[in-house]
Parts: sequence; structure tokens; C-alpha cells
Amino acid sequence: MITNILEFFRNLPPKKCQQCGRKINEQADCYINICEECDHPAR
Ligand SMILES: [Zn+2]
Repeated sequence: MITNILEFFRNLPPKKCQQCGRKINEQADCYINICEECDHPAR
């Protein structure tokens, strides 16, 4: 059932950056496990 799938995603914990541990805002790029700060480090 579709409801079960929605519940499944709703129960997922918020994504966290694997480098700094910060919470990642929802993005279209689901494969990204790091925040923008770590993805595009300032040089
Ligand atoms: Zn980060």
C-alpha cells in the first residue's frame, strides 16, 4: 500500500553530513551524504 511507503519514509531519520554531522536539508540529490559546506569547501 502507498500509505505504508509514505510512513516508511516519514519515519526515516533526518540525513546527517557524514563529515561534520550537521543535519542536511532535503535535496533532490539523494545520494549526497555530506552537507553543502563539506561538498563545496571554501578555499
Ligand atoms: Zn558537513
